Amino acid sequence: MALILDGKQVRDRILASLRPRVEKLAEAARPPGLAVVLVGHNPASEIYVRGKVKACEELGIHSEKHLPTSDVTTEELLFLIRSLNERPDIDGILVQLPLPEQVDEDAVLMALDPVKDVDGFHPVNVGHLVAGRPGPRPCTPSGIMRLFQHYKIDLAGKRAVVIGRSGIVGKPMALLLLYANATVTICHSRTRGLAAECGRADVLVAAIGRPAFLTGEFVAPDAVVVDVGINRLKDRQSVERIFPGDPEKLEELGLKGSVLVGDVHPAALSQCAAYTPVPGGVGPLTIAMLMSNTVEAAERRLGF
Ligand code: NAD
Repeated sequence: MALILDGKQVRDRILASLRPRVEKLAEAARPPGLAVVLVGHNPASEIYVRGKVKACEELGIHSEKHLPTSDVTTEELLFLIRSLNERPDIDGILVQLPLPEQVDEDAVLMALDPVKDVDGFHPVNVGHLVAGRPGPRPCTPSGIMRLFQHYKIDLAGKRAVVIGRSGIVGKPMALLLLYANATVTICHSRTRGLAAECGRADVLVAAIGRPAFLTGEFVAPDAVVVDVGINRLKDRQSVERIFPGDPEKLEELGLKGSVLVGDVHPAALSQCAAYTPVPGGVGPLTIAMLMSNTVEAAERRLGF
């Protein structure tokens, strides 16, 4: 039986450890403050932002949403970012990606004060990560490292394979695994012999964005599998193909209009040593680490 790595349980631990720190800041000075910038109407982004704001509320972190319309210009967004950079009560600024096509995403991310960059995407913070210096780390990979710690999964000397090379997940994940002394391979869309590379992994992290892409031949029987992918199945045919004979999934499709699935095929998960479910695996950790980065930014700015 594969062990299910429960992201919600680890999230709750992380949030519980942050609560007294938030209280201490609020008593001695003010609560930490997070500004979220969400442009236009992207249903997936709206769900993510809702989750982030709710987590702030539950912890006592001040949060505020800035909602420019989808025709916003780069200049207007830069003006907003600069005004948030100057606000003494805002410790963290999060720009929800993707931004509309007409916006120069790079210019917007570069405009963030690195001290308030709670996503860890600013090149200054990427540099800190690459150099192994302290700084805010991207939330998804740092949350996954917390999961490994919680379940006492020792990474030293292990063969870790990361599929995906994005700046948000794949690349920082590979570096964090390297710092934990794993032997790291990064695979991507141009990798040849992907199944063989994956099949050698003791620890497999999938961050691709393709529903149920990794089937049984990609997963070694004793592997620990972290499934970062969040994919929405919207048609009955796909749901029946990926979850054959599962009436609950069809019911979910009827009720919600979509069914979530990771990058790893559900049938492949049951044959490995341990895995993160989708939903309930990596997603909750990402939000918890955003809270952690925000509290740390507030502590640093307030001299705690
Ligand atoms: P991305 O599109 O930026 O990167 C995808 C990566 O997958 C690329 O580096 C690409 O080289 C690789 N890839 C694509 N096709 C491939 C193939 N056929 N074989 C091997 N590699 C291939 O995506 P991202 O932002 O890194 O996100 C990846 C997935 O993780 C998405 O489903 C996203 O929704 C999800 N995600 C989840 C969380 C979370 O909190 N759970 C956070 C961030 C991203």
